[in-house]
Amino acid sequence: MKKQVSAFKPLRLLKYLFKKPLTQPMEDIFETPREASDNYRGFHVNDWEKCIGCTTCAEICPTDAIIMVDREELEETDGNFAKRPTIDYGRCCFCALCVDICTTGSLGMSKEYLHNSPNGDDYYLMPTETFLGKEARDGYQKDEDSDLLELERVSMVHLSDVERKDNFLEIIKGYSKAQAIHEAARCVECGICTKTCPAHMNIPEYIKAIWEDDFADAVNQIYKTNPVPGVCGRICTHNCETACSLTQRGEAIAIRWLKRYIVDNAPKDIYERVVLEQVSEKRDGKIAIVGSGPAGLAAAYYLTTMGYHTDVFEAKPEAGGAMRYAAPKYRLPDEAVDQDISFMTKIGVNIHTNTKVDAKMLAKFKKEYDVVFTGTGFFEGRKIPMPGHDHENVVAAMDFLPIARDYTRGKVDTLDVHENIVVIGGGNVAFDVARTAVRYQNEKFGKSNVIVTALETEDALPADLEEIVEGREEGANYFFGTGPQEIVIENEKIKGLSVKTVESIFDAEGNFKPSFVEGSEQLLEATQIFMAIGQAPDYDYLKDIEKDMTFNRGKIEVKENGQVVGVDWLFAGGDIISGPDIISGVANGHAAAIGIDEYLSKK
Ligand SMILES: Cc1cc2nc3c(=O)[nH]c(=O)nc-3n(C[C@H](O)[C@H](O)[C@H](O)COP(=O)(O)OP(=O)(O)OC[C@H]3O[C@@H](n4cnc5c(N)ncnc54)[C@H](O)[C@@H]3O)c2cc1C
Ligand code: SF4
Ligand code: SF4
Ligand code: SF4
Repeated sequence: MKKQVSAFKPLRLLKYLFKKPLTQPMEDIFETPREASDNYRGFHVNDWEKCIGCTTCAEICPTDAIIMVDREELEETDGNFAKRPTIDYGRCCFCALCVDICTTGSLGMSKEYLHNSPNGDDYYLMPTETFLGKEARDGYQKDEDSDLLELERVSMVHLSDVERKDNFLEIIKGYSKAQAIHEAARCVECGICTKTCPAHMNIPEYIKAIWEDDFADAVNQIYKTNPVPGVCGRICTHNCETACSLTQRGEAIAIRWLKRYIVDNAPKDIYERVVLEQVSEKRDGKIAIVGSGPAGLAAAYYLTTMGYHTDVFEAKPEAGGAMRYAAPKYRLPDEAVDQDISFMTKIGVNIHTNTKVDAKMLAKFKKEYDVVFTGTGFFEGRKIPMPGHDHENVVAAMDFLPIARDYTRGKVDTLDVHENIVVIGGGNVAFDVARTAVRYQNEKFGKSNVIVTALETEDALPADLEEIVEGREEGANYFFGTGPQEIVIENEKIKGLSVKTVESIFDAEGNFKPSFVEGSEQLLEATQIFMAIGQAPDYDYLKDIEKDMTFNRGKIEVKENGQVVGVDWLFAGGDIISGPDIISGVANGHAAAIGIDEYLSKK
């Protein structure tokens, strides 16, 4: 649906100023209420409980009769604007397009009213469900045929479980042009998603550009707030889709896949031209960036486009952080990361790999650069300190996944994966470990045996549903609602993981304090245990300045502009301040770039 906003909209109101209005409740006119005629559509009613203030009704109205009004008493939440439509019946032509397009179905019509009043104010109304005290929906209502929304998403081609369980091929194939344009046409351009996206991406704008087949505009809109769209088009946590107004009655727009369509299909010359056009003239100012995850790269990208000199220092052999070394290849192929990073280097970001920054180097950066930005992430593996956890075959997720990524890119020949494995954890990382191990076992042994165990029951797992479903399809076994007690070791070999059934996970005050059913011990047999219970930061390089900083549950406290509280030459972003997800890292890397620019301008 095309949005038509006219700059003359307010002026057009004037022509109604001297029109004589004519509306009045029926009962005020007739002692005995009269039946309305069949073809009378009626006046609007709107169920405020259902309405999300998405403005779609106002956008479609051909007579500009609908004006959205802010309502302070409403709480503005993800997927809900605190505004509701008002209707000017001096202009409404009763076409009911607003009812037919209403995303939530909250808008309908009631026949309770008749056009007959000398008072102009009677014609400017904010419909509620009990409009003028009446509760009736006996006027025009939309039905399946008149509904203007297409509620089903254009389906995506996935590899089947048989096609994918013994290899690391990318599972999702991506939209064709026709599919992408069809999917883009479902968007009502309400912008509710933009508010929910941590980077506030121009989502309706780039979706519209797809619909218009305008790749240059699509790339331009994306790069305003996100310089790693190839990655995000595949594995972003897509909070925007959860908030999409179409979820009220149907399936969210496939925002993430539409972004991927642009990145994968925009002609390279157009893409490069648009990205290079973003760079301003050179200006004074050198910034050192520690860590090349999404936060570091976003900070580097936006600072470079502002004209600053940026040097990124990365401990690993390749740039990209968790995008390069954690998320498995079947979800995020190297080419997507490579493409995003190639545009950064093209605009002049200098990336120095194999360079682990320590406290001495940081002190040097302070002298040699105007500002330092750090985005070193939560990159260290963690283990539960239970009996047996220090056995060599008990492996933390982040001690395994980076090597598994290197295996899939042919940099190591083999992986240390046993035939019988237990994975502890119920989040997405646990499924990354389990699904990687299943693939490797099938490839190496021709069969798989991986058990995933977590405290939560399946319906309460923190992992995404698609991970749980696809993991099961590939052959992972689940043993949820149980808590690990000890790693049972006999003759120095792991025999398995002893677990007990969970009674409760939190105590009466809501603190994390799991309790277990007495006598419910069971042994999950395995010779190798993986722990995916969260990652940790390595702040060793900050040891000389950490006394001036504030840490809150392992995260560094920063001001709104990303400046570290207590150390004004240091800015920070990514998992060490928020998240954990890629788009939050991108958002605060970008915010820090703006903060650094302001800081340097004042200096
Ligand atoms: C297995 C796994 C799967 C994930 N899947 C997803 C997903 O599907 N979607 C999503 O949105 N998020 C996902 N995440 C989370 C996401 O990857 C992180 O939130 C995000 O990458 C954090 O970005 P960051 O900028 O903080 O840096 P990180 O990506 O954590 O990178 C930090 C970088 O800093 C480098 N570094 C650290 N210390 C130093 C030092 N002293 N000197 C130099 N370099 C240093 C590290 O080597 C690393 O390259 C996943 C995380 C993991 C672990
Ligand atoms: S019925 Fe038609 S003219 Fe009236 S408010 Fe709705 S869309 Fe606008
Ligand atoms: S389209 Fe429906 S949900 Fe959206 S603002 Fe209008 S009445 Fe509310
Ligand atoms: S993607 Fe959904 S929420 Fe975003 S503008 Fe389109 S319809 Fe609205």
